[in-house]
Amino acid sequence: GVPLLVVDGGGTKCLAMFLGSDRSVLGEGRSDGCNYQTVGETGARESLRQAITQALGQIEVITGDDPETIKVECAVFGMAGLDTERDHEVLTRIIRDVLKSERIEANKVIVENDALIALFGAAGGQPSVLVISGTGSIVCGVNELGRYVRSGGWGHVAGDEGSGYWIGKKAVASVFKMLDGRGETTLLRDGILTFLGLENAEDLYNWIYGEAYSVDKVADLSAIVKKCVDEGDAVAMSIVEQSAHELFSGVMAVLKELKMANDPFQLFLQGGVLSHVPEIQTKLMGLLDTAVPGMYQVAADTALEPINGIISKGFDWLNKHRQ
Ligand code: BGC
Repeated sequence: GVPLLVVDGGGTKCLAMFLGSDRSVLGEGRSDGCNYQTVGETGARESLRQAITQALGQIEVITGDDPETIKVECAVFGMAGLDTERDHEVLTRIIRDVLKSERIEANKVIVENDALIALFGAAGGQPSVLVISGTGSIVCGVNELGRYVRSGGWGHVAGDEGSGYWIGKKAVASVFKMLDGRGETTLLRDGILTFLGLENAEDLYNWIYGEAYSVDKVADLSAIVKKCVDEGDAVAMSIVEQSAHELFSGVMAVLKELKMANDPFQLFLQGGVLSHVPEIQTKLMGLLDTAVPGMYQVAADTALEPINGIISKGFDWLNKHRQ
């Protein structure tokens, strides 16, 4: 058997890893995003299946046999889009189906929100706050009593302030505001049109409500926002600043709820937006330096994939405390 299967089911990508008892990687697979709120149940199932199949393929190469069933002691799934009890039920059902079809027998299956898994993976139970800004966003934290709270992360339609999607949507809106005279002239217009291979703002409008649109692609526009920031574009800079403010207010809400505003804590930053748009990180830290001076330390291994944290610290905690 294999001790551990860990899956990081994010909004943009899904990563699956089989791990040995020394946490060495026995097999690894990747596929597209698997937030079922955006890609649907079928999409999520397919991404999970692909990533796990790929990882399984590598195990066979390593062990040199083709076992009928793979026995796994524990399977941990960190899923973006797991925000309610119902989500937990839906995703657990999907995951059990996938495991069955892949002929994996797991003794224990832990299915949680991606941020919770990432937080405990990174922090291992120490007082910490985690900010994720990728396709989606969320802030969560744990205090020394092990109490967990979250703030934000309510998906692309109703929330995810400060995320890649949120930034992309604001960038698109700025093109239309420029078009009809409500907003400043911005480099975002040409940047976005070129990126999407479109001619003009009307094409962009049709793209948004057409077949090619996806949450992921709107989130990708955050890279154009970053480019325009580098070129000194004021509209792009304002979007980036607003993003930092949104994430900051999430951190403050978590600290307040955990009664941690006067205690030292570790700060973890994860997700593509935070690693590719350093201006957001800098601004966020500036705001925190004023609000909670000297209280936090940015943990070194921040940009790591959640899965690395689980491998290094979080698994024992998760195994003990969840389900
Ligand atoms: C999802 C959350 C998730 C967050 C970060 C949001 O879009 O609704 O469940 O934790 O993204 O991936």
